[in-house]
Amino acid sequence: MSCILYLVVPCYNEEAVLPDTAAALERKYQTLTKQGKISRESRILFVNDGSRDGTWRIITELFHKNALFCGLNLSRNRGHQNAVLAGVLTAQEKADAVISIDADLQQDIDAIDQMLEKYENGCDVVYGVRNTRDTDGFVKKNTALGFYKLMQMMGCEVITNHADYRLLSKRVIACLAQYGEVNLFLRGLIPTMGFSSDVVCFDVRERQAGESKYTMKKMLAFAIDGITSFSIRPLQMISVLGFLMLIVSIVMIGTTIFDYYSGRTVPGWSSSYCSTWFIGSVQLLSLGVIGEYIGKIYMETKHRPRYHIESYLWKENTGSDGTEDKKETDER
Ligand code: UDP
Ligand code: MG
Repeated sequence: MSCILYLVVPCYNEEAVLPDTAAALERKYQTLTKQGKISRESRILFVNDGSRDGTWRIITELFHKNALFCGLNLSRNRGHQNAVLAGVLTAQEKADAVISIDADLQQDIDAIDQMLEKYENGCDVVYGVRNTRDTDGFVKKNTALGFYKLMQMMGCEVITNHADYRLLSKRVIACLAQYGEVNLFLRGLIPTMGFSSDVVCFDVRERQAGESKYTMKKMLAFAIDGITSFSIRPLQMISVLGFLMLIVSIVMIGTTIFDYYSGRTVPGWSSSYCSTWFIGSVQLLSLGVIGEYIGKIYMETKHRPRYHIESYLWKENTGSDGTEDKKETDER
């Protein structure tokens, strides 16, 4: 029996690209249904992540035109990770498997075939991994590669060049729903969950329209979030640094005593000047790292919902309008 597949597409100010994306995904769905790879109950779920442009209007129009499309409207912008989670958790009610994919179709939709194949062969998680980074600019390419290296050094199980293009089976999603963390970093979280997994490689294309929503500031925040959500190695590194500094101080005290008895006490202004600066900066840096973790603990202890759903558009494929319109009911 073919599976019910839901495609979850997070959208933030994507009005420029959405009509093309919807058309391409609809074609893909028709082919997959004809080939018997997916059931007719399958859907494309657009998640509007608090867009300020006409994204939600376009999603609503698509929904009214074709029951294949459904829409989830978040009450405000909650960020890419939360938008993906909202879509995946909403889709799990009806789907056997869910694939998350970006709205700009940079990721090759033909990789869906292979993902489904792996799923049919018993994989619960299938990661989409990009072959090259030729479409990225110099800065994006190198910061991204550096980010994966750093994450791995810090002990996070991220998969190099895997973004959020992945298939999750129903039972993995049920487990994912048990994770209540506010600082969500799906790329690090899902590999830690276990289950049988595999990888599908694909080529990345240029963004079809609109511009990247990941500014340098957002990427940096994402990287810090990723590291501090999954690794306490920076905290351990502070202790190691503190220990090394202790050894340096003992040596410095030794040389100072030696200088004192040799009658060379006046010189040394430069060394004390340098060490004051150095120690000051190390202390500030260490406080900053500790502060990052305390900030995380603070956010987590509040147990606030990660998003609110303002409305959910979904109907039976029969043509009857069984719209489910939840007004600020769902929160996770
Ligand atoms: N996105 C989102 N909320 C945000 C930022 C981005 O839902 O706050 C979505 C965006 O619409 C796109 C995906 O996340 O579908 C990836 O964003 P983008 O393509 O801009 O990132 P890039 O490919 O440049 O890293
Ligand atoms: Mg993109």
